[in-house]
Amino acid sequence: MKLRTRLLFSLLPLGLVMALLGGAAIQLNTEMGELSDRILRDNYRSVLAAQRMKDAIERLDGAATFRALGRDDKAEQQEGPGRARFEAELRVQESNITEPGEHDETRVLRQRWTSYQAHAQRYLALPPAERSAAYFTTLEPAFLEVKAAADRVLDLNQDALVRKSEEARRAAARNVVLTAVATLLALVAGALASALLTRQALRPLARLSQAVRRLGEGDLSARAAMAGGERGGDEIAALAREFDLMAQRLEGYRRSSLGDLIAAQQASQAAIDSLPDPVIVLAVGGGVSNVNEAAVHLLRIGSGPAAGDPLAPVDPAIRALLERVRAHVLSGKGPYVPRGFEESVRLDAPDGAHWLLPRATPVQSEDSGVVGVSVVLQDVTRLMRFDELKNDLVATVAHEFRTPLTSLRMAIHLCLEGLVGPLTPKQEEMLRAGRTDCERLQAIVDDLLDLSRLQAGKADVIPSAQPARSLLLASLEPRREEALRAGVQVAVAPEPPGAPLPPVLADPERVDLVLGNFISNALKHAPQGSTVVLRAERAGVQVRFSVTDSGPGLAREHQARVFEKFFRVPGAKGGVGLGLYIAREVVRAHGGEIGVDSVPGEGATFWFTLPVA
Ligand code: ADP
Repeated sequence: MKLRTRLLFSLLPLGLVMALLGGAAIQLNTEMGELSDRILRDNYRSVLAAQRMKDAIERLDGAATFRALGRDDKAEQQEGPGRARFEAELRVQESNITEPGEHDETRVLRQRWTSYQAHAQRYLALPPAERSAAYFTTLEPAFLEVKAAADRVLDLNQDALVRKSEEARRAAARNVVLTAVATLLALVAGALASALLTRQALRPLARLSQAVRRLGEGDLSARAAMAGGERGGDEIAALAREFDLMAQRLEGYRRSSLGDLIAAQQASQAAIDSLPDPVIVLAVGGGVSNVNEAAVHLLRIGSGPAAGDPLAPVDPAIRALLERVRAHVLSGKGPYVPRGFEESVRLDAPDGAHWLLPRATPVQSEDSGVVGVSVVLQDVTRLMRFDELKNDLVATVAHEFRTPLTSLRMAIHLCLEGLVGPLTPKQEEMLRAGRTDCERLQAIVDDLLDLSRLQAGKADVIPSAQPARSLLLASLEPRREEALRAGVQVAVAPEPPGAPLPPVLADPERVDLVLGNFISNALKHAPQGSTVVLRAERAGVQVRFSVTDSGPGLAREHQARVFEKFFRVPGAKGGVGLGLYIAREVVRAHGGEIGVDSVPGEGATFWFTLPVA
């Protein structure tokens, strides 16, 4: 059924009610009309007849009086029409008997009229002289009786008239009340029925709008599905069917694209799961976006009861490491690339210790913003073992070299002192060369021993408050002879007046390793006759120590690497490339920083900082 038809249908009850009311009103009006008609017909005519009869009988009586007075001429004028009139009206009355008792009264009237006429006949026959007496004895009583009978008919009908009009008035009043109540009831019932039908007709619309809203909120399972009764041909049902079809297609589409997405996601997850090293994708906000299986197994990410933070069960050192590389990448410094194995962090797992080396890259979104950080913790345990092995070897060799080297130096020293007999100039020259080489060898062995000592207990510094300048002087003093031999001046820059340096937190023995190395390197590279300058100056909450020479300096690409273990500038003579590495480790253990500023060809300034005490 069409919606228009349905709506029309829902108006039907109201229309029906109105038609019924109209019909009832017409009926009532007709009845009232008929009632008044009947009153007129039944009673008013009788009243009229009775009055006319009274009129006629009075004229007849008047005529009789004229005859008594001897005026027969006048009497005759009235007698004829009066009698005819009475007779006519009596007939009318006889044919209009409507009230109880009226029949009897009419009959009495007829009898009296007949008897009056008989009396009148006899009266007429009398000679005029006797008439006067006869009138009063016979005719007048007969006249009065007729008149009384006509009066009774009149009264009867007048009473009925009054009664009936009273009844009609009451009926009319009752009808008004009845009509009002019926109208009210009918209107209420009609309006209710119409409202009900309209609601029923429009109910599918409400369901449809609800389904549309749910779909809009993302619930693709929403359907306007019309129930059996509501299914059909109306426009809403057609719209609902179209809507359901659309929702079904949308759902299908989502399911299929969701399926593809899930497959793609599973493939990429499988790919990162296949990597042997832990991979963690961190969100910009610090949460974990994704991890691979190795990360779950090795780091126990996401395990344990702490459902809130998946990083909670992870070793604190690893968490600190993740936080550090995340901050590095997010600060816009680009990918985080480790500088060496020493950056690896030890993780104790059930299958033994693992050394993990971090490497992090930003995860870019399509609109080129950084949306996360992917961190690979490269498992360098095997490489670290090799490194350890190498360190052990170095330590053992250095240790084993020490004693024979000391006795070798002692022997050469004794020979050169002439304690084992005189030497020829040639022998002395060779022994001096031997002593220089022994000293170089000694320096290397010392470096190696320092290295192995550092590696045995890296953070093994015992800092105390130390005057900055005396640290400089303490390191310079034992190297004065070396400077003399190199023909290079060494100067300590004067303290700026009015700003005395605060003491620093330092382990003097360890700091001497750093400063001694800086000074030795400067003496090695400074040209003869030049001056090496040592400085100590305030730099915020730290004191900056520096050694400046005017030697060849360092190429830019070497500046970043000189602090690496075993790094030597290509072509450099002597040394094993450990001095600056040891210096860096010592400075870091103090919580300071180390670096070099150099313009190639113009010299180099090696510097480090120590915290103010
Ligand atoms: P080594 O103990 O072999 O000298 P270092 O770690 O002390 O090793 O130094 C590393 C490299 O840095 C060396 O190869 C050296 O040539 C270079 N170097 C150190 N100091 C200076 C300097 N003041 N001027 C130029 N090159 C330097």
